[in-house]
Amino acid sequence: MGRRKLVVGNWKMNGMRAHLDEVEAIGAVAAAHPDVEVGLCLPATLIMAGFERRGAAFIGAQNCHMDFSGAYTGSLSAEMLAEAGASWVITGHSERREARGETNADIAAKSVAAHNAGINVILCVGETLAVRDAGRAEQVVADQLLASLPEGAAADWLAVAYEPIWAIGTGRIPTIEAVATMHAALRAALASRIGAEADKVRILYGGSMNGDNAADLMGIADVDGGLVGGASLTAAKFAPIIEAAD
Ligand code: PGA
Repeated sequence: MGRRKLVVGNWKMNGMRAHLDEVEAIGAVAAAHPDVEVGLCLPATLIMAGFERRGAAFIGAQNCHMDFSGAYTGSLSAEMLAEAGASWVITGHSERREARGETNADIAAKSVAAHNAGINVILCVGETLAVRDAGRAEQVVADQLLASLPEGAAADWLAVAYEPIWAIGTGRIPTIEAVATMHAALRAALASRIGAEADKVRILYGGSMNGDNAADLMGIADVDGGLVGGASLTAAKFAPIIEAAD
């Protein structure tokens, strides 16, 4: 209990300079809701400029490399992202687990690298529709969480996002009961590894969250906020979600 709600926009591969006005507008919404921690994980090209216009929102990144520096063409280290202004990073998003072949071990290593650079982590997990239909969702996602959980995980630098893959960008969400069951299972899994610290870790829901469903989702006892894709791209769409968290 006592977990501050965390509402984070994931802009994915969206956003040009022209969209910095939206960053500023979202930063102003964040300022109006100081009890909610609000952030935007921007494409790397916008992190520096977005940082200048973040208002009361934090700026985050969407990925980082697991190494400090080296011959990794096209990659960015957590330390670079921190210097650019990112204070959070998403690790383990299904769009990287699936399309980029990131393993649980990679994700744990990236999360440790972020923590070592002073960046907080949103670690994503979630099941396919086939797994849900087979009735194995809680077991599979809890196993995924424990396999990708970084060493030394603690609530002051790590949050978890439960994102059913079939709900991302589809307009479909699980039932409220299914989300409640999953989040309780994930907290129990965390407790099996980190004990009482698990009660402090924020577990977000992600996947087609919007202004119409946010209040119901965030009203669930173990749902401590949201990771929001499409509905975070404008202040007009994101503001009702931030309000629902307050
Ligand atoms: P969505 O994306 O809100 O557009 O479904 C969420 C995410 O992938 O983080």
